[in-house]
Amino acid sequence: MHEMALAESIVQLVEETAAREGARRVSCIVLEIGQLAAVESEALRFCFAAAARQGVACGAALEIRDVPGSGRCGACGETVALLTRYDICPACGHAPLEIVGGLEMRVREIGIESSEEV
Ligand SMILES: [Zn+2]
Repeated sequence: MHEMALAESIVQLVEETAAREGARRVSCIVLEIGQLAAVESEALRFCFAAAARQGVACGAALEIRDVPGSGRCGACGETVALLTRYDICPACGHAPLEIVGGLEMRVREIGIESSEEV
């Protein structure tokens, strides 16, 4: 399952970061997920909650920001919005387009509470 593997890698990254920063707990995690990445936000939230259950990220608020898809046409050079990765160029009809945005799956911010601030 795509979302479970993604959730596990997010939790691993968050736990490594928390350990490095000496965090007591993680309060929030901001993700950027491209609209072409074929990730179901609700499934990811569910998997994240399961993957984070034992660790420092347990109970952290998950904020998912959508990154719109965009592609560059190799024929006419236009950069256009993509709703799917199979869209054709609206200017000249060329396909496939080179995808330049919307495939990202990354952790943008990790909000931690350190042991000093109680
Ligand atoms: Zn074109």
